[in-house]
Amino acid sequence: MNKLIDTPLFDCIAQSADDIYAYVYDPATRLTRYSKPCVDYFDLPSEYTNNSREVWLSRIHPDDQHIYVDDISAVMSGKTSKHHCQYRIRNRYGSYVWLECDGKMISDDEGKHYLFADLMKRIDNFAKYDPLTKLLAISELEYTSFSGRTGTMLLVALDHFRNVVSSFGLNFSERIIVHVATLLQSMCGKDDRLYQFAAHEFLFDLPGHDADYASELFTRIYDELSQVHYIGEHAIALSVSGGIAEYPKHADSRDDLVSYLELGLEYAKEHCRGSVVTYTRSLSSKQQEITDLRIALSESIQKGFKGFELYYQPIYSQRDTTYRSCECLLRWNHNEKVVRPDLFIPLLEDSGEIIHVGNWVMEEAIRTFVDWRKRGILTHMGFNTSPLQYRDTAFAERLIECGKRAGITPSDITVELTESYGVNNFQALKDSVEMLRKEGYRVSMDDFGMEHSTMALLRSIPVDSIKIDHTFVFGLRKPDSHVDHAMIQALINMAHQIGILVVAEGIEDEQLRMTLANMGADLMQGYLYSKPVPKEEFERLIG
Ligand code: C2E
Ligand code: CA
Ligand code: CA
Repeated sequence: MNKLIDTPLFDCIAQSADDIYAYVYDPATRLTRYSKPCVDYFDLPSEYTNNSREVWLSRIHPDDQHIYVDDISAVMSGKTSKHHCQYRIRNRYGSYVWLECDGKMISDDEGKHYLFADLMKRIDNFAKYDPLTKLLAISELEYTSFSGRTGTMLLVALDHFRNVVSSFGLNFSERIIVHVATLLQSMCGKDDRLYQFAAHEFLFDLPGHDADYASELFTRIYDELSQVHYIGEHAIALSVSGGIAEYPKHADSRDDLVSYLELGLEYAKEHCRGSVVTYTRSLSSKQQEITDLRIALSESIQKGFKGFELYYQPIYSQRDTTYRSCECLLRWNHNEKVVRPDLFIPLLEDSGEIIHVGNWVMEEAIRTFVDWRKRGILTHMGFNTSPLQYRDTAFAERLIECGKRAGITPSDITVELTESYGVNNFQALKDSVEMLRKEGYRVSMDDFGMEHSTMALLRSIPVDSIKIDHTFVFGLRKPDSHVDHAMIQALINMAHQIGILVVAEGIEDEQLRMTLANMGADLMQGYLYSKPVPKEEFERLIG
């Protein structure tokens, strides 16, 4: 016990704030005592030391050591009693931070040094945290050294955030971001660090962990966010995509790591939204192809949807043993090749152009339908819509208007709601579906059962039919398919109990047709009947 430095006053000051670091020095015994936040943050060997100068100096940035040495020497030699300087010092994470010291040496009546006390504060604190989320600002990453460390970085971005802002407004969007930030922070491990990367992007530094760990963390985040969250009076579900890069395996500089993370994230957004992609070298060239596609797509749209075309795939009714309807499927003719929608729809969704293209699909589908009905080719038709088309009720209003002008009977048209990923403005979706159904349009929920959220969606948004996705149906081909079998049977039973139809997609052969027919599916769609084909070919097929 040292009566000078072990005082309740020091304890009190030392514990008053986490980001103020204090120490006291007894010149008589040469003993220094550091405050607890100081020991923790600078990873000091102990609370007490006899060689504070070496301990401290070893952590100061080599370029700044002279600043500290000059200033403290002036105090210790008695030239001045005040210690005041600023320098960079390494913290426990290996990052350099700016510190401002304000110290004072007091002397006894005879002028002999009696006690020295120093309060130090971070002067980069104002920039240290994001003002909205209070997460670490990304600028902090600049001070992180990657040499001699191994670990992984995970970049997580909220999907379609522009859409959130346009449907909910900025204030509410900020509340969502704070909500997400708090949730992500709670998922951080002891040594993990979470940075605010961009408005709706978050970066995890996961020292000592590999890409598999980051990928598992991503899955947990995805599962958590895709649940319905109640924020204020809104119910929303969020989707995220992500990128992963390991250090030093992929890169050991901040800039390279960040650009690799971005590449992974971009790739995920375009090819497999809702998942995470780990950096590989071939990603860079793939990314260039995507950039080219984006440009070409925009040009096509500007030239009056040049190159876009609808293909049609028949839907067979088990009960009527006839073709009952068809599904319109979008194609894009580019460089004399037919590009499949899985490749370009995510790009259109990302740019927001899906809104225009979705309108074009609807109008083109109705044009074809009017023609076919007149010629007695088909009496029903379905087309796809993206969840992004329901950020407000404009699409529903446009369809109703377009249908009236064309003089169609709304119940002949089925609107398919494709994948429920992405942000759903539930209220706008619900209002749109109600508006359409009130008018007589049929609404079908696509890819039913693929995502757990579809079940929750069905509870609040009643529809006329569900479609069981082909990938789900293919599960029945596996030798050991009893679980798939039970699940599909349960979906069909549930649908029938609430009085809605079931369309089974992916009927490729007679075996699958029989299985699904026995299970009670009402309508069948698949290669057994026909692949999606251009308009004239479809007319020949049906006619
Ligand atoms: P989806 O709505 O689930 O469409 C059914 C997909 O399953 C189609 O792929 C179709 O070709 C395929 N399919 C049907 N029967 C079989 C089968 O027996 N075997 C196999 N292997 N596949 C079968 P496609 O045309 O490539 O469309 C992919 C997805 O693109 C669609 O999935 C839909 O989500 C989206 N999509 C297509 N057209 C549009 C559109 O106009 N607007 C929007 N928003 N999305 C669209
Ligand atoms: Ca569909
Ligand atoms: Ca499907």
